[in-house]
Amino acid sequence: MQRKCVLVVEDEQDIADLLMLHLADQNLDATWCRDGVQALQLLRSRTWDLVLLDLRLPGLDGLEITRRLRAQGSRVPILMLTAKTTELDRVLGLELGADDYVSKPFSVVEVMARVKALLRRVSMDAAPERAASRIVHGVLVVDETTRAVTLGTTNIELTAREFDLLTFFAQSPGRVFRRTQLLDQVWGTGHDGYEHTVNSHINRLRAKLQAAGAAEEYILTVWGVGYKFNDALASVDVA
Ligand code: CA
Repeated sequence: MQRKCVLVVEDEQDIADLLMLHLADQNLDATWCRDGVQALQLLRSRTWDLVLLDLRLPGLDGLEITRRLRAQGSRVPILMLTAKTTELDRVLGLELGADDYVSKPFSVVEVMARVKALLRRVSMDAAPERAASRIVHGVLVVDETTRAVTLGTTNIELTAREFDLLTFFAQSPGRVFRRTQLLDQVWGTGHDGYEHTVNSHINRLRAKLQAAGAAEEYILTVWGVGYKFNDALASVDVA
């Protein structure tokens, strides 16, 4: 059986070391990252079986990471590590979609018990994260695992940002997104805040789809608001 991949997002070295040690003991393939922005990139770059996510992080906090992942349709299990009970209240109150919580200081035995329980639950769910990795809308296929996009038999070469943008739209056909929303959710922190950045990326994406032979526009302009994925072309078929 393939080893399960776990991402540990924790900026405190001692805690991270302890977690990494115990995860390795369980024969899990664990990766450590100490920064929120880097964590989000890692989470988007490949499939994970579980994330141990600290609440307070440099870059982007655990709540924001969770919110963005869920907004993009990711169902990766998240075990949130919080520093105090008041933070735990905040996490629970926001119901952002973390799967479980442990407050610091925690016993590593307790954390590992939660880890095992979450991984068991996921394998019983037939790995939903993997199952959702291909988005099919008619002849357009977006494969999140290989980051490949095809239109019929034509491969479309996209930049990382264009790919993220197309995936983001394709996950929610018909839903209208404002440019500022796209900047926050696709670009993330560190974007320049210019709405024309979105316009120019969408124009390039459209041109590439058209060059590949798209008969109709996949991404429609909603005047005065933003953009949406053409729901007339959408036939969601998650393979
Ligand atoms: Ca921290």
